[in-house]
Parts: sequence; C-alpha cells; structure tokens
Amino acid sequence: MKYAVIDRGDSMSQQLAEQLHKLAAASELERNDDQPELVVSIGGDGTLLQAFHKYVHRIDEVAFVGIHTGHLGFYADWKANEMEELVRMMASEKPKIVSYPLAELEVQTDKETISYVALNEITLKGADITLVAQINVNDEPFEMFRGDGIVISTPSGSTAYNKSVGGAIVHPTIESLQIAEIASINNRVYRTLGSSFLLPQHHHCDIISKKDQRLLLAIDHLSVQSNDIRALRCTVSSKKVHFARYRPFPFWNRVRDAFIDL
Ligand code: NAD
Repeated sequence: MKYAVIDRGDSMSQQLAEQLHKLAAASELERNDDQPELVVSIGGDGTLLQAFHKYVHRIDEVAFVGIHTGHLGFYADWKANEMEELVRMMASEKPKIVSYPLAELEVQTDKETISYVALNEITLKGADITLVAQINVNDEPFEMFRGDGIVISTPSGSTAYNKSVGGAIVHPTIESLQIAEIASINNRVYRTLGSSFLLPQHHHCDIISKKDQRLLLAIDHLSVQSNDIRALRCTVSSKKVHFARYRPFPFWNRVRDAFIDL
C-alpha cells in the first residue's frame, strides 16, 4: 500500500511524521508522495484540508485519514498516541471507505472560467464594503443579497463555518449544498430569505456580483481577492472525497465528540 504524509509544519507534527515513516518502513508500507493510495494528515482539520487540495487531482484514487495534534478535529480523529495502532492497521487491514460529497465551483471572471472543488465550503465576501449579489437558483431569480457574505457548504463542511453562521448540520449521505448568509441586511428596503437552505444534487445556484466590487473568495482555507469575478456557479460535485476508516466512527458520534462530549 502506497502512502504519503502531510504535516502541519510545527515541530510536534513533523516529529510524528518522521516517527510514522519509521514505523511504516518497518511494516513494509511504501512511501509514495506522488501517487499515494492513502494520505495521512498530521495536525488539525486545516491540515486535512491542505492534504485534500494537494491531492485533489487524484481524488478518485486516494483515501484520507487524519491524526490530530491538538483538540479532536472533525476530519482528524486519531490521537497522536494511537499512531502505532494506526500504522499496524494500515499494514494489515483493508479499511472501510466512506465517501462524502464535495462542492463544485465555477468562477466566471472577465477573462475566463475557473473550476474548483471544495471539501468544506466556498465563501464569498465583499472585500471593502457590503457584498451585493443577485442569487439565482436553477436560473430563476431568488433574491438580491446584501450583507457580509455567503457560505456555501458541503455536508461535512456544515460543521465548520456554516455552523458558526447558524446553518444546520447535514449528514453526508444527504448529497447537497447548504447556502447560508453572513449578516444579511434585512429591513423595509432590502430582503433576503434570512435562513439557510439546502440544494439537492443537480440543482445549481448562481451568485452574480454587482459590477466593480472587490470580492474575497475562499475555497476552504484558500482565498483569493479579485475585482473581476462576475459570477459563481455552485453545484454538488460529481466527485466525492474518500476517508479510510480503520474503526467505526459514525457521523453523529463525530459531531457529538467534536462539539458536546469533550
Ligand atoms: P483551522 O485549521 O484553524 O480551522 C479553523 C477551525 O475550523 C478549527 O477549529 C477546525 O477544527 C475547524 N474545522 C475545520 N473544518 C471543520 C469541519 N469540517 N467541521 C468542524 N470543524 C472544522 O483554519 P484553516 O486552516 O484556515 O481552516 C479553514 C476552515 O476554517 C474553513 O474551511 C472554515 O470552515 C473554517 N472557518 C471558520 C470560521 C468560523 O467558524 N467563523 C471562519 C473562517 C474559517
């Protein structure tokens, strides 16, 4: 089995990565940074997001597993002191693969159309002033949004930024995108839905920016600032992310352990 490791870059994560390579070599696991079948991230959820984006071009061939070096993460659920057990299982067992939906984004600028895939969410904000954007659902006008921004999250990302802005937590078997508002302006003149909503697969949502706005666009932890973004189209991706489960960890237990039962 070919594996690769992505660590957060701090000394603890780097030491754990070195230790993992030694344990893996002793178990005859093959390190292959270019074409891994299993990617182990060591750090936090942010490290798993980095690992995802590094190997997104091989999304169908790769499964991820996360070790956390701080508090329990949503994606990073193995503890540092369980690493030996994890490597032993990597060498001897076939993991159960669970697959979660992703968000697909097409960004239309003045010059080109660029595609991205997000594991957690896509966030759009105004860089200087209130974001003003027309939101269409399935090519029908839905609302004119005015406010700080919009978060379009995947089911597994629904426990991240989306949760902070009052969005619902969505089980990953529900292949959907959640559109949530960040501080929308609602008064006698301006009106938005005022709550988050879910789009199923095969529906699409377009966010069309008012001209000459400087925007902040984030795809998970990666952000770009641009003044030539004209429109975004968000859909449930046809691709999925795969996680290797060497022991069961049902989604709702993960939610409980990450947020309630620490
Ligand atoms: P990071 O690694 O410090 O992550 C920020 C926090 O988000 C951490 O506590 C992490 O455990 C948690 N997190 C990430 N993905 C999660 C998920 N799917 N479910 C539950 N918790 C999750 O910082 P980063 O590397 O910049 O991570 C980027 C992520 O941070 C974004 O994808 C976004 O979801 C999140 N974020 C959250 C807020 C907010 O809640 N107000 C604001 C900005 C970004």
